[in-house]
Amino acid sequence: MTAWWRWYAVLGAFGCVAYFLVPTVVMAQSVFVLVGASAVAATVIGTRMHRPRNHTAWLTIAAGTALWVLGDIAFEWIHITEGSVPYPSFADALYLVGYPVYGFGLFLLVRHKWRASERGHVANSAIVMVAFGLLTWTFAVQPALSDGGISGTAGLVDVAYPAMDIFLLGLLAHFVGSHQWRAVSYRLLTAAVLLLVVTDTLTNFAIVSESSADRSILDVGWTLSYVLAGVAALHPSMRRITRPNIEPDAHLMASFTAPTVVVLTAATLTAPIVMYIEVIRAEPISEWGWAVLISAGALVILVILRITDLLRLLHTQTVQLRAVADTDHLTGLANLRALEHRIWEGAGDTTVLAVDIDRFKEINDTFGRGLGDRVLVAVAERLRGVVDESIMLARLAGDEFALCGPTDSMDPAALALDIQRRFATPVELGNMTLLIEASVGVASNSPAAEDDEITPDRLVQRADLAVQAAKATQSRVAFYDRSMDRDKSEQLIMLGELTTALESDQLQLLYQPQVDLASMTVVGVEALLRWHHPNGTVLGPSAFLPTAERTGLIRPLTRYVLTQALAQHASWEQDGLPLRMAVNISTRNLFDDTLIDQVRTILDEFDCRAEQLTLEVTETSAMTDPVGATEVLSALHAMGVQVAIDDYGTGYSSLAYIERLPVQELKIDRAFVSGMAHSPAHAAIVRSTIDLARTLGLSVTAEGVEDEMTMTTLRELRCSRAQGFHLGRPSTAHRIPAVVAEVNAHLKTATGERIS
Ligand code: C2E
Ligand code: CA
Ligand code: CA
Repeated sequence: MTAWWRWYAVLGAFGCVAYFLVPTVVMAQSVFVLVGASAVAATVIGTRMHRPRNHTAWLTIAAGTALWVLGDIAFEWIHITEGSVPYPSFADALYLVGYPVYGFGLFLLVRHKWRASERGHVANSAIVMVAFGLLTWTFAVQPALSDGGISGTAGLVDVAYPAMDIFLLGLLAHFVGSHQWRAVSYRLLTAAVLLLVVTDTLTNFAIVSESSADRSILDVGWTLSYVLAGVAALHPSMRRITRPNIEPDAHLMASFTAPTVVVLTAATLTAPIVMYIEVIRAEPISEWGWAVLISAGALVILVILRITDLLRLLHTQTVQLRAVADTDHLTGLANLRALEHRIWEGAGDTTVLAVDIDRFKEINDTFGRGLGDRVLVAVAERLRGVVDESIMLARLAGDEFALCGPTDSMDPAALALDIQRRFATPVELGNMTLLIEASVGVASNSPAAEDDEITPDRLVQRADLAVQAAKATQSRVAFYDRSMDRDKSEQLIMLGELTTALESDQLQLLYQPQVDLASMTVVGVEALLRWHHPNGTVLGPSAFLPTAERTGLIRPLTRYVLTQALAQHASWEQDGLPLRMAVNISTRNLFDDTLIDQVRTILDEFDCRAEQLTLEVTETSAMTDPVGATEVLSALHAMGVQVAIDDYGTGYSSLAYIERLPVQELKIDRAFVSGMAHSPAHAAIVRSTIDLARTLGLSVTAEGVEDEMTMTTLRELRCSRAQGFHLGRPSTAHRIPAVVAEVNAHLKTATGERIS
């Protein structure tokens, strides 16, 4: 069925040839009528078959064609009955009525409704019509008129035909610019009309109303035009044309397509070309002057109209482009670009609140991007409820949102609170309920004493730093301060350096003796980390451990310390110096699943009994997640590793709680121990702790023993062990045998003195 148009094309081509092959003129005229009638049929059948939305247009075209065919029949009839056809005749009347009907069909095809936005197409048509009109007038009508004049019906008909062609051509200009132009069917129809107009015009130029009944090569133009229109109607592409244009400027834009511009340029050039030809021909200016002048004037006005349209179009497009460039597509909020522009406009009086969705990455990874996007849209919706017109709401990237407004009229703390309140109710998405929490970071660019110019991107960056800091706080709100800047960059530098340090032996362990107060001998050491920085300084743990903790570098660091310490332990044992080894581990290590395997592997590697190793865990880290800590500590305990609670007394935990943890040792913080001698309160704490720990079956180590008297007191309190500068400073491994001997000797004389 779809191939019908091919069959019809072949048949039509055959008809065009047959027209010249049949022996008599009457037969030829019959073929002509048949081809025309077949075109009408093809148009009606095509319309029925493809059911285009604008079928009225096609049927109107069929009606116009039918009128022409009737004209052909009338022509033949007059020819047969009267032997010759007068000019003008009844056939001409039918032809001339056919043109506007056909033209109206074409017009309907391009557009059902006449809208202001189509002014561009109308102007295009007008330009083509004026140009073609000028040509026809100068080269066809005017020469004809100078023979007979416009008076009388023949003269009127002489003018009417070109006028109709001008009209059709004008509509065609509209066609070329329309979106339908892409369809084969419409190109065929355009070809049909163009062929008709060209044939008409050639006839007009020849303007020979002699024996019009004779076959002429020009006739092929009309027959072929019929066939092409029929094929166009049968072609399946005629159906999927009517596509409503949503954008208001789509028509206007379409009226500036490349083919249109070519046609318009050619049309506009007609006026000067006609003048040129007339001048060369030396035609009297009094005869062509007015027509050219009027046409040229009309063309200029129309072209100016078009240029105005073009400028307007460019302007609206620029505005639209800017809007698109400033909008986040997912949420419809402003984007980073727009936000920075707003800050820039605010000129030193702007506050930015960065809002970050906590654990958004998890949501995205778990439920997929689709749901992640919906969460972001829901978040945008909630944030919209927080702001008024004075505040701009933007989505910067991923799960980062920002609010920005004038500093004086904003209360950032209240806003932050409002934001968090709005996230208190869970987000419902389909059958899922998600609890979303937001952190808020605040930064202002109000001129401070030190920095009078903060660029928009610096301000956004500061709010960003603040929001990162907020994530670590209880309230989840933080205001930017200068330390955040430094933190960030220094941390990055240190991270790099520390990684190198790990790989290139810049790290070293010092060992500090631990003395058993009953036997008064060194029974163990605690491993303490140092960093020999390439800049020549030696850094203590507090200078770099926080960074390692934050960045996850703590894991390889702890492995390094454990390996070094146990290797050292094995080597001393080989030398006949059995010393227990105490190693500090961080909070992060405590929640690292791999810790247990790590410890086991390293113990095996150095053939070390687990009982020889004590892991020191600070009181606060054991408190961070008691359940999780208990699990890890139990596993270590099961392995035989000793666990000590370090810095006891600084974490406000009760001994009752610590009792539930699988630990064997308490290390009383040096703040209490070193204060014992002067502060009765400190002394009381140490005393009661030792007593309580003993009843709970825990051994107690006092750290920070800095003088003889403290040691003696601790011994009297029956404290298990002591550690401190008085009993030996942290020393390098190779010095430890000597230090141990020295300390033991010192302790021996000290106790000896006391005994004697
Ligand atoms: P800590 O576990 O409480 O270690 C004892 C700290 O007190 C050491 O400081 C030591 O030099 C110091 N100290 C020892 N005796 C005295 C004394 O009589 N008076 C005074 N005022 N101080 C004394 P250091 O080496 O700077 O270590 C600081 C902290 O760093 C340690 O506190 C420990 O929590 C941590 N740390 C050290 N090495 C490591 C390590 O390898 N891994 C981990 N995770 N943390 C470590
Ligand atoms: Ca320790
Ligand atoms: Ca300690």
